[in-house]
Amino acid sequence: MSSSLLIKNGIVVTATDIYEADIFIVDEKVQTIGKDLNVSAAKTIDAKGCYLFPGGIDAHTHMELPFMGTFSSDDFESGTLAGLYGGTTTIIDFAIQTQGDTLTAALNQWHEKAGGKAVGDYAFHVAVTDFNPKTKAEIKTIINEGGVNSFKTFMAYKGALMIDDRQMLELFKELKVHGGMLTTHAENGDLIDGLIADNLAKGNTLPKYHPLSRPEIAEEEASGRVIDLAYQTQSPLYIVHMTCEGALNRVREATKRNQKVYVETCVQYLLLDESLYDQGFEGSKWVMSPPLRKEKDRKALWNGIHQNLVHTVATDHCPFCMDQKKMGEGNFSKIPNGAPGIENRMELMFSEGASPGKISLNKYVELTSTAAAKIFGLFPKKGTIAVGSDADIIVFDPTQDHTISAKTHHMKCDYSAFEGWRVKGKCRTTILRGQVVVDQGKAFVKKGFGQYLARKPLAK
Ligand SMILES: [Zn+2]
Repeated sequence: MSSSLLIKNGIVVTATDIYEADIFIVDEKVQTIGKDLNVSAAKTIDAKGCYLFPGGIDAHTHMELPFMGTFSSDDFESGTLAGLYGGTTTIIDFAIQTQGDTLTAALNQWHEKAGGKAVGDYAFHVAVTDFNPKTKAEIKTIINEGGVNSFKTFMAYKGALMIDDRQMLELFKELKVHGGMLTTHAENGDLIDGLIADNLAKGNTLPKYHPLSRPEIAEEEASGRVIDLAYQTQSPLYIVHMTCEGALNRVREATKRNQKVYVETCVQYLLLDESLYDQGFEGSKWVMSPPLRKEKDRKALWNGIHQNLVHTVATDHCPFCMDQKKMGEGNFSKIPNGAPGIENRMELMFSEGASPGKISLNKYVELTSTAAAKIFGLFPKKGTIAVGSDADIIVFDPTQDHTISAKTHHMKCDYSAFEGWRVKGKCRTTILRGQVVVDQGKAFVKKGFGQYLARKPLAK
């Protein structure tokens, strides 16, 4: 039995086009796109006055992440469901190697967390925290059999996640052989650890010392360094959650030697700034790494989007409830790093970017979906609205205003990083692989509906 769905009268927006059309979906795929389609469908949605965007792809999330002595509070079910409410249909989460253990074990662990639970589609990056001959021997299999073409390193969190430059160079070389790409958390871990120790020694324990211990230069230096290592090995590189002007300038410099570096930023770095830390322990809500920055950095990131230096906008969704944040009362370095965001990204980027005309509708789609699909090898199955692509479509009402609040969001977190924000535009209906999974604030999806997206090696 095949199922069918017709979306009528909407305005289709992709990264390159915008036009009025009907979309006819059979089973999981878009079958036909055209004007006034004369077809009979089991179900019809009238999308008059609405945009039809490709389902959002959040290339940076952490569901049920064991971190700093606790676990992020959304698991794959609640986290991907919150994503669907907000128009994100696919996530790429990080399977993180435990130092001393294997990459395969990490990937298996994350499959166990997600399998049978996720309601949205998902893929994995594999984070390499311990690169040695044994790890090296696993890379080929992880890429060819594990369906993972993107990896990650941390240049901070020494003793837990950080690897050194020599390890990173060897990893770059091995990835190049097999068609894998490195993504990197670029902050100078040693510089940060020194500043944390200095602050604690002076009795500076409040959240406001978190950004002061992770200054722009720490991110700028590490970004420049990893860019140089990628250049030396002639490797592709994707820098995750870039926050500041200094780091972006290192990317700009690299373009002068014809190097291409992919840059991701996150919605909070475009919209929020470090003044939020200056309110006692409340500031812990925004303790994340890298930290929120200054107004000049927000400007630099928006300009970076216009200059095509910034390619994707993700969330680094990694929520912790306030009782978890309290682990760092009396010592800011013990506050679990991370904040909720997956549910708000698509609507905030529309409201703050596309709606006021700061970015075009096409750019909006590119930043929130298409670019991630292309960079990470999910395109054209994901990341666009086209004949033969997965029918991951959001019906977006640009006129519906609402207010973000922890009281109404679906993320398992007792605060919102954007509490009280007025948002113009709402994701009215979310369709994932041809199924209406959320409509008018109600979910129609069962646990385990989400599918693992195995990816192919990237072009070398
Ligand atoms: Zn992260």
